[in-house]
Amino acid sequence: MIDIDRKPIETDVLIMGGGIAGLMAGIRAAGLGASVVIAEKANTRRSGCGATGNDHFMCYIPEVHGSDIGPIFEEYRRSQVGGFSDASLAMLFLRQSFDRVKDWEEWGISMRPWGHWDFSGHAFPGRPRVWLKYAGHNQKAVLTRKAKETGARIINRLQMTDVITQGGEIVGAIGISTRKEEPVMKIFRAKCVILATGCGSRLYPPPSPGWLFNTANCPVCTGSGQAIGYRAGARLVNMEFPQRHAGPRYFGRCGKATWIGLYKDPQGRIVGPFVKKADKKLGDITGDIWSSVFTDKHRSGEGPVYMDCSTTSDEDFQYMMWGLVQEGNTGMLDYMAREGIDPRKHMVEFMQYEPFLVGRGIEIDEKGETCIKGLFAAGDPVGNFRADCAGAATYGWIAGESAAGRAGRIRKFQTAEKGPLVEESQDFYGRILDRGQG
Ligand SMILES: Cc1cc2nc3c(=O)[nH]c(=O)nc-3n(C[C@H](O)[C@H](O)[C@H](O)COP(=O)(O)OP(=O)(O)OC[C@H]3O[C@@H](n4cnc5c(N)ncnc54)[C@H](O)[C@@H]3O)c2cc1C
Repeated sequence: MIDIDRKPIETDVLIMGGGIAGLMAGIRAAGLGASVVIAEKANTRRSGCGATGNDHFMCYIPEVHGSDIGPIFEEYRRSQVGGFSDASLAMLFLRQSFDRVKDWEEWGISMRPWGHWDFSGHAFPGRPRVWLKYAGHNQKAVLTRKAKETGARIINRLQMTDVITQGGEIVGAIGISTRKEEPVMKIFRAKCVILATGCGSRLYPPPSPGWLFNTANCPVCTGSGQAIGYRAGARLVNMEFPQRHAGPRYFGRCGKATWIGLYKDPQGRIVGPFVKKADKKLGDITGDIWSSVFTDKHRSGEGPVYMDCSTTSDEDFQYMMWGLVQEGNTGMLDYMAREGIDPRKHMVEFMQYEPFLVGRGIEIDEKGETCIKGLFAAGDPVGNFRADCAGAATYGWIAGESAAGRAGRIRKFQTAEKGPLVEESQDFYGRILDRGQG
């Protein structure tokens, strides 16, 4: 049995998930005067895939790249994030990305730690570089503070489970609060809902059975947004193409493009075709566009594949170590220090991690809206656009703006709390909680 709090919470815009996309949506919608609730399963100050930091922000900066956006668009398409995106959404993203960079810098995230726009890593030799290197270790704290200052209400430890629709339009949502010993179901009346619940991890078997929480992505992002959208009738796309990220073996994701060195086989031969000399400007893009190289070489008997930093210059090595901190990989750095592992002397074995869903899921239009009126999505759960943290920031902003606009045109809240979904949910989650085991 689970109790229901029968007094609905009314809000113009309800945002499910307080990651990068959710907080950016909240900041924009509240800034435009909408009442906003951000319902977050964990705590927005340290939640989601950007919890402990990121260090690359894909963007187009005209003063660096020139006035022709075309080559940057091409580069985006060839990158590890661009292949499945709708062209119109990608172009809109690139055009707005610099505005989000400037916002973040103004709010206190260091987007040019060396005083200039520094594009490095994830790069092909001789082609434009599109990933801005930034200091993202404090990004969640900064965005949380900004969302609160702007007037968004954040409710932590509230796991959202469904949206409520009437006549094909959003009227509310259901969630389960775990703030107290006994969970309580909460009902929302909302004019718009934004699904910003991040990627879908832990849906596929991990590399070994003991790895359930040592995942390549945030372990609590389990594809809720895609599931909620699907149950409500939203269109999902590209679901048949899960991703596999790669990085240091046994470290459930601790940088890939952040490392500066060369991928080598056990005989010391360079594995990829792109770089012959370690260079911070490029990184080694082999791991981005051929992430199965680590599995392929292992299976063919030519592996494992290692990251070799022995020829990386001192300056580039310091830059790499700084980047690993900004990306939040301090657990691995502590481990290496404790065990006396020095990447300049010891090659570090890399592996491909378990599959997950990112940029695979809910189809949106250029306003961030799904095919259901009043239901929006942004960030990793979107299926026809992907640009990771920069994409989450940009489409979070767009969805927040669109949702605030729509909410402003709707005069009153609908009674969401009376429908059958509420009773069905109470029964379903009550039965799970009442289980004696399992
Ligand atoms: C180690 C690592 C390094 C990375 N480095 C980079 C990088 O350098 N550059 C880059 O572009 N990208 C990077 N990424 C990816 C980037 O972090 C994500 O693309 C980005 O965080 C996506 O933002 P989001 O808002 O969509 O999802 P998230 O930031 O993951 O936020 C989703 C939020 O939803 C919450 N949530 C989930 N389900 C529910 C629910 N049912 N109810 C309520 N809340 C829910 C989660 O707790 C979380 O707070 C990295 C990822 C990892 C794991």
